[in-house]
Amino acid sequence: MKTIAIAQARMGSTRFPGKVLMDLGGKPMLRWTINALLSVPSIDEVVLATSALTADNPIHKYCFENNISCFRGSEDDVLDRFYQCAKYHSADVILRLTCDCPFLDSRVIEEVIQLREVTNADYASNIDPPSYPDGLDVECFTFSALEAAWNEASRPTDRDCVPQYIVRNRARFPAANLRCPIPGLEKERWVCDTEADYRFCHEIAKRLEDDPSYLNILAILKREPELRNINPGVRNERFYEGLATELLPRRTFTRSHQLLDRAVQTIPFGAQTFSKSHIQFPAGRAPLYVTHADGARIFDVDGNDYVDLVGAVLPVILGYRDQDVDDAVRQQLDRGISFSLATELEVELAELLKKHIPCAEMTKLGKSGTDVTTAAIRLARAYTGRDHVLLSGYHGWADWSMACTDRNLGIPEDVRKLSHRITYGEPKSVIDRELVLRRKGCDIAAIIVEPNDNADFLRWLRQYCDEHGIVLIFDEVITGFRYSMGGAQKLFGVTPDLATFGKAMANGMPISAICGKREIMKLMQPPGNIFYSGTMFGEALSIAASIACINKLETTKALDKIWEAGDVLSRSIQMMADNHGISGHIKIGGQPPRTMLNFSDDKIRTLFMQEMIQGGVLIINSNNLSASHGKPELQRIYTAYDQAFSAIAGCLLRGDIDQRIGNSTVSAAPLRATA
Ligand code: PLP
Repeated sequence: MKTIAIAQARMGSTRFPGKVLMDLGGKPMLRWTINALLSVPSIDEVVLATSALTADNPIHKYCFENNISCFRGSEDDVLDRFYQCAKYHSADVILRLTCDCPFLDSRVIEEVIQLREVTNADYASNIDPPSYPDGLDVECFTFSALEAAWNEASRPTDRDCVPQYIVRNRARFPAANLRCPIPGLEKERWVCDTEADYRFCHEIAKRLEDDPSYLNILAILKREPELRNINPGVRNERFYEGLATELLPRRTFTRSHQLLDRAVQTIPFGAQTFSKSHIQFPAGRAPLYVTHADGARIFDVDGNDYVDLVGAVLPVILGYRDQDVDDAVRQQLDRGISFSLATELEVELAELLKKHIPCAEMTKLGKSGTDVTTAAIRLARAYTGRDHVLLSGYHGWADWSMACTDRNLGIPEDVRKLSHRITYGEPKSVIDRELVLRRKGCDIAAIIVEPNDNADFLRWLRQYCDEHGIVLIFDEVITGFRYSMGGAQKLFGVTPDLATFGKAMANGMPISAICGKREIMKLMQPPGNIFYSGTMFGEALSIAASIACINKLETTKALDKIWEAGDVLSRSIQMMADNHGISGHIKIGGQPPRTMLNFSDDKIRTLFMQEMIQGGVLIINSNNLSASHGKPELQRIYTAYDQAFSAIAGCLLRGDIDQRIGNSTVSAAPLRATA
């Protein structure tokens, strides 16, 4: 098994030309990288790979004079350069490093090599996700994976950024990641992309010995933390910019459909969540299973990537794999997951919810939105001594919630009689329902609504409930920690009696909360005797995640950023719809953190989803933004919208939508109200 390290270098860096031969602490920058590689025990050969351009002759000359093996290949097709180099040197395992990382740590490199070997992964790195400082990046992959990428990859970013194809196709190429034992270091910037980076590296190099370890650099920064101010910057900025604008190849979904065939043998619908199942997507024209996700991007089993506007059906508010939330989970994991008694974490989270949410005098936790909306209904019934419930949206899969929809099979008739639909935003629908029920001698225990918009209606509801002794429940499973830190109730200035939270409160970890007025909530303890309890309700990983998520949302003001991006996005979508002459077919509603799209018919919706997917954006029927949707991701979203709207306009004009979507019409109708 031959392991070679290929360090790439070129003189023509766009942002900082000539950097790799610049002096750093008495030697050219690339010499630092080469030195680190030469002291890694498992590396058999070190090669510097540069382009065949004459501009790169000085690199070749330096290598020649200093007895460093040099390989010259394509300038743009770096993947080809690597492949030819690896083939020439008969490598079985390849390490990829770049010469703008002068402070590579030979011990970390060795660990990545060992990790790949022990796990038998096709790809091992310390950057997926990153946890070491930017500039300590090591990637290691097999020759067979590299060869597959070289044969198959066609996207410019795949040819430019060597392992991208391998990383994207995780279902084919298993991966392993080396995690830095010291949390928070991914925010450090020790790479040399710009002149400011060079000044930083220069200062560090002056203070370092040969073959430095990252711990030496940390020690320097501990003594002189102000050095960090020299070069603020964003990791992999150029790569993400490239992703935003490159042409995408036609997407295919072979593996997704093979997996669906397998899944339906053992899982009804082939997926655990209704909204994530195949019936939500254009048949044969959409991904059905994913391998992993990162920030605002998600990867399917066929190796396609998307800017994700689904957000795991809304929990992902900070972005996938948020370092702070994930670190909190890891730290808690080291202490334990579930315990025999309650924990201080529960108290801390309840206090945090109280701090942010106006109605949250007391809190009980749950695992799902259904847990807590159902608890809220039981509480309201016990508190009022009444049975009937008015509702308008989706509140989970419990009997009371599904009773008055067309998906109510298995719910006893007596239960169905107790739930009644109202139309959100229409006081008359509430008044009429109450009147009919009163005539039958029935009283209303609770009105539960998703407070999506319309502050006037919410104020009216508050007053109406007060006048009629009804418990007002806001189901904030979606709006909580998305609309504002205090939910829609804070945004609209209307405080309910009870409120339920879930989804975004822990960035994807399974947790929910019912919060409310002490007078009602305390019925859950003796002598109230309303029973609400779950073995897993105090599970500590999710509580730790929730605390970290809420604190980060607060300190980074992430929701302000989401509102801002969402506002521009919704106005732009409206403008594009107008420009393409299709605004009569699409209604844009909701609030900027989650704008909703309503299409005039299922075929248009299907065409829209199909075209967005081909345009590299995964979406169902709303723009579920997260704090990770930055400029490049939004740019991809705009381009995809424009192309999708153009396709819709064209089909409407020609009348050929059926040909365009085949028989892939999305069959999953939203829940229809029945009573
Ligand atoms: N309430 C609302 C507003 C929801 O959107 C949902 C789920 O989508 C629920 C409750 C139920 O939550 P869960 O699926 O976690 O049970």
